[in-house]
Amino acid sequence: MRRKTNTKSMREYLSEYPTCFVCGRLGEVHHILLKSLGGKDEPANYITLCRYHHNVAHGIIPGVKRFSREELWALKKRVEEQK
Ligand SMILES: [Zn+2]
Ligand SMILES: [Zn+2]
Repeated sequence: MRRKTNTKSMREYLSEYPTCFVCGRLGEVHHILLKSLGGKDEPANYITLCRYHHNVAHGIIPGVKRFSREELWALKKRVEEQK
């Protein structure tokens, strides 16, 4: 039996939201709730971030505070509601 889903692929999400939600440069999809923490592969968990902000989201830029999940959710909501 096929499970009914309304999930967009990451690729489709990216074609709808190609640019970083923070700075507007071309980006890539980040999972707000990391997959390693049980985050799902679905649009509700996607945000587009450029390389730099993606690194910030993963907390790997020395001296730059990592985005909290709450900040990313808020950003996502704001950008998607403008569509
Ligand atoms: Zn950016
Ligand atoms: Zn990521």
